Amino acid sequence: MPSRAWRRMSEKQTFKTVAPLNIHSPVKPDCLRFVCLSDTHSKLHVDDMSKFYVPPGDILLHAGDFTMKGRPLEIERFNEALGKLPHKKKIVIAGNHELSFDDSLFTETNCFGESIGTVERYLKTKGLKSVRGLLTNAIYLQDSMVTVCGINIYGSPWQPRFCDWAFNVIRGEEILQKWNWIPENVDILITHGPPVGHGDVTKAGINVGCVELLNTVQKRVKPKYHLFGHIHEGYGLTTDGETLFINASSCTKGYKLCNPPIIFDVPLPPGQ
Ligand code: 5GP
Ligand code: MN
Ligand code: MN
Ligand code: MN
Repeated sequence: MPSRAWRRMSEKQTFKTVAPLNIHSPVKPDCLRFVCLSDTHSKLHVDDMSKFYVPPGDILLHAGDFTMKGRPLEIERFNEALGKLPHKKKIVIAGNHELSFDDSLFTETNCFGESIGTVERYLKTKGLKSVRGLLTNAIYLQDSMVTVCGINIYGSPWQPRFCDWAFNVIRGEEILQKWNWIPENVDILITHGPPVGHGDVTKAGINVGCVELLNTVQKRVKPKYHLFGHIHEGYGLTTDGETLFINASSCTKGYKLCNPPIIFDVPLPPGQ
């Protein structure tokens, strides 16, 4: 019951909403600019990128749900769109819509509207073993970390169970086990779903974020930035005084691609 938990927890929490940086603002000196997207749901197309402005920057981050069903064609289109963007590095995680990225679903037949045989034959023609190989223009993180200019970025696709899509896990002990894999030296944490209390309120007005994720962020990992999406209507920035929480859902609840990308600048560590 995340809503009830948050009601109790919030009495002892610092909580502030934060205004986003203007996406046309110049990059601060000696900083790396991060540009955040999430939940683009196969709406980011090469041919009409002018309709959805993605500002330039050094590193593009995407917090999952880049497709509707994780079909190879959707992944390829997304990869092509990434290829047109100017950022030096693009870091991507999967969300619950990337069905083909979840190994536990990939073993079943017809789990995402295309039979597993069709997908496997298609991958074989490309010399690939998994759909991850289709993301040639991105660094794909799944319970793993990459270090860019001394900044540690960790990505994880899991979210509390809802409708049995990809990377769904039960709240409590089971999902905590996934968060326990996050190392403590993370500067930017990317998860698909929000923690409880930050960018996690649905249209019905209830908090649906993960209690264990907030505890992990606040008590153990303490990253400077926590990026996520998933609850489209929770788009925006908040802080607890230590971590900046960014719900960068690019699509609205009605899957319209119109929430602007969110940017932030990170000072380069000494020597970088
Ligand atoms: P998606 O299907 O793209 O993962 O999520 C789309 C929408 O489904 C969200 O914006 C939110 O309204 C709803 N949703 C996703 N996960 C949950 C959840 O755990 N609980 C509730 N109540 N709604 C959810
Ligand atoms: Mn830390
Ligand atoms: Mn989504
Ligand atoms: Mn989602």
